[in-house]
Amino acid sequence: DKTPVTLLGLGAMGTALARAWLAAGHPLTVWNRTPTRARALAADGARTAGSAAEAVAAHTLVVVCLLDDASVEDTLTGVDLTGKDLVNLTTGTPAQARTRAEWAAARGARYLDGGIMAVPPMIGVPDAGGYVLYSGAPDLFEQHRATLAVPAGTAYVGENPGHAALHDVALLSAMYGMFAGAAHAFALIRREDIDPTAFAPLLADWLTAMVPAVHLTAEQLRSGDYTKGVTSTLAMQTAGTPAFLATAEEQGVSPELLSPYFALMRRRLAEGGGEEDLTGVIDLLLRRPA
Ligand code: NDP
Repeated sequence: DKTPVTLLGLGAMGTALARAWLAAGHPLTVWNRTPTRARALAADGARTAGSAAEAVAAHTLVVVCLLDDASVEDTLTGVDLTGKDLVNLTTGTPAQARTRAEWAAARGARYLDGGIMAVPPMIGVPDAGGYVLYSGAPDLFEQHRATLAVPAGTAYVGENPGHAALHDVALLSAMYGMFAGAAHAFALIRREDIDPTAFAPLLADWLTAMVPAVHLTAEQLRSGDYTKGVTSTLAMQTAGTPAFLATAEEQGVSPELLSPYFALMRRRLAEGGGEEDLTGVIDLLLRRPA
């Protein structure tokens, strides 16, 4: 009595999803543009379909994990989606997800968009920390929650179908900012007699200690009071930035990753935000009203 699943797309991620559902005993029908990848799964119990249309016709719950939005368009054009529960785990932009949701609704399908916060080896491994962000039809999510929870944890972030993609990109963007900071830090020590493997634990612990600051930022954004709970004012922190730039210069390191952030700090200070936290920088990034 496990919910049958149709899965379109057997790349690295699709194959990992397929194996997780098979291992949990869900009847699974798969299709892939290049059929050899589907055949490999047939030995593990998957039913293979000769076309995307045939795969979609097999079951109500249809999960799509293709390269990009264009490949979803290519694959599903002309396929009857009437009465289907379409779950699109293909990475795309929030606007693509909203357009795809309207497109699915016009074809008589319920639509849920997903953003996978995991790499394939984390799929089907409980406690690996991977999860999928979902947004769109709440009734679809509730109905298939248990099935969707088989490959990875689930986090539903609202009815707006674009919000899973938006959360996905926001989280990964923060990650890249963190990697940028770490890259600058490693560059600073690189020419010295400092073992990077001795430095790394200090770096990891420091970043970990600083991460909870995002909760205060969130409180400040919600209240509109950017001075709330501030321990290091923008004025104090901006006064410190010349030492960071001078140290980079001394070490022969380009400041190109740090400078843009410092420039925003100076702009906010010039606007009168000296007693605030760094939160005002966020307002400077907003190019037009949302
Ligand atoms: P792969 O590159 O391994 O696989 C891509 C899949 O898309 C293949 O099944 C491929 O078919 C298919 N495909 C590409 N173009 C078309 C097309 N025009 N028509 C039909 N099928 C097409 O990618 P992944 O499996 O790794 O990723 C799939 C999705 O999951 C992506 O959106 C990715 O961003 C997302 N994701 C992946 C993560 C990862 O770490 N791998 C992490 C988080 C999200 P064929 O075999 O015929 O080439």
